Amino acid sequence: MKDVVIIGAGLGGLFTAALLAKEGFRVTVLEKNATIGGGLQNFNRFGVSFDTGMHVVGGMQPGGSIRRICEYLGIADKIRLRDVDDDCTDSIFFAEDHATYRIAKGRDGFVDSLAAYFPHQREQLQRYVAALYEMVEQIDLFNLRPSTGGATLFAHSEDFMLSADRFIGKYIDDGRLANILAYLSPLYGGRRGRTPAFVHAIVNVLYIDGPSRFEGGSAHMAHLLADVVEQHGGRIYTRHAVEWVEVQNRRVEYLRTEGGERFCADCYISDIHPCSLFGLMPTDALPKAYTNRLNSIPNAHSAFSLFVKLKPGTFPYINHTEYYMSRYDEIWSFDAPRTFPLGFLFMTPPEVDQGPWANKAIITAPMQFSEVERWADTRVGHRGKEYEMWKQQKAEVILKIVEEMLHPGFMRCIEGVNTASPLTIRDFFGAKEGTICGFSKDVDNIALSQVPVVTKIKNLLLTGQNNNLHGFCGVPLTAINTCEAILGTNHIIRKINNGKG
Ligand SMILES: Cc1cc2nc3c(=O)[nH]c(=O)nc-3n(C[C@H](O)[C@H](O)[C@H](O)COP(=O)(O)OP(=O)(O)OC[C@H]3O[C@@H](n4cnc5c(N)ncnc54)[C@H](O)[C@@H]3O)c2cc1C
Repeated sequence: MKDVVIIGAGLGGLFTAALLAKEGFRVTVLEKNATIGGGLQNFNRFGVSFDTGMHVVGGMQPGGSIRRICEYLGIADKIRLRDVDDDCTDSIFFAEDHATYRIAKGRDGFVDSLAAYFPHQREQLQRYVAALYEMVEQIDLFNLRPSTGGATLFAHSEDFMLSADRFIGKYIDDGRLANILAYLSPLYGGRRGRTPAFVHAIVNVLYIDGPSRFEGGSAHMAHLLADVVEQHGGRIYTRHAVEWVEVQNRRVEYLRTEGGERFCADCYISDIHPCSLFGLMPTDALPKAYTNRLNSIPNAHSAFSLFVKLKPGTFPYINHTEYYMSRYDEIWSFDAPRTFPLGFLFMTPPEVDQGPWANKAIITAPMQFSEVERWADTRVGHRGKEYEMWKQQKAEVILKIVEEMLHPGFMRCIEGVNTASPLTIRDFFGAKEGTICGFSKDVDNIALSQVPVVTKIKNLLLTGQNNNLHGFCGVPLTAINTCEAILGTNHIIRKINNGKG
């Protein structure tokens, strides 16, 4: 098993490629887009570079698990990151009563800042935060501890069996505070009664420890990973969309790209949405029961995004994310919203030499794919006038809220607005239904929604956001799982722990 071909140079494909290249594998990565990175890609509009899918990241504080993986790869010091404000990592505004809650960094800061609004809940908050940390402490992979449980990733305590909303309710008896504590649910596709408490715990612990932002865009992170691959003899080809995966007798024989090139290897790894992968294979390549199961897993919501160029010197740089939410009791309703937007994130991403003024803002509003279903058969640049008008209307609704609720005068600061819909995300990343974080997890059926990295095809593995947890805090950990499926359990984890970088 020395030659490996990876489909997709996204976050998962690049971390997997870098780890395997460092182990001496001959790695080839095939990427359909003109640039590498997937969710790490940037694009230019109005002379400004915008992030596509990596605005805030967790796990990069000193000692954080993703930082430790980056240290192992020798790139940690080259990543340009900026921590958000200690006294306000996030602010949450509720339109229902025009209340704003500002959350401070650290366990004490988190409790103190929320206890200032809910003094009668101080002890409950303390117990809730302790329970969050206890839960993530049990996850070997998250802590980069050698796994003792073979294929089992999670040790199960009582809280693991709860959905995130029931977990919060177990510790917090003030309904309004319980809803505020779920403010990050749009980031992980939270669903009432469904999303496992451990997903909520991981994301929240990372945010309490302190989220970071990439300075000057996230694309440089993709290039740092690509450098590791290439320094170890690997190759990355852009504009190489894989259009066919030839499988015979449960073995991949070769991949064929749209350009007609064939790539053969001992082992193949897919970083694309598993359901998109099935479409590239013979229908009998995998057991029907397996493909039916994965095809039936619901995907987390998609998003409608506004990329705004701001006039120079008109709008301040804000060093934290602002969350807008219409109603408290709808914080878990992003999977079936009655209005649009139910909520959104407003942020001013930093440049390398960020000064007091922002040159851009990104607004991301969760949206269901069903909103754009009627244009599902169209492709970028050819979706028609009706679609363009629909996008403009959605953008106007969001900008009106920003102007009236969050930042009066914002409209006067705007120089240009570009929009992206769930169709953009679907076509740009190849993600089914434009999901921003892959398969939805279901606490009542973890086995159904947790997709192993090994498949029924011996020389085909999976990596990326659909296997365990999505995002910067999850995908690099899954890359370790994928590599260790080849190298042996704990092979890389032990090296990271022994400092054998
Ligand atoms: C709008 C948005 C905002 C987000 N914000 C954040 C955030 O702030 N923080 C965070 O941690 N996470 C965020 N996420 C989630 C994060 O971007 C993803 O979890 C992560 O990028 C997934 O990595 P991946 O490798 O699984 O997939 P991707 O990054 O999507 O990579 C898949 C790659 O495969 C390529 N590909 C697809 N089909 C083919 C083919 N046939 N042949 C060759 N290549 C192919 C794609 O072009 C892509 O490069 C956001 C996502 C979105 C969409």
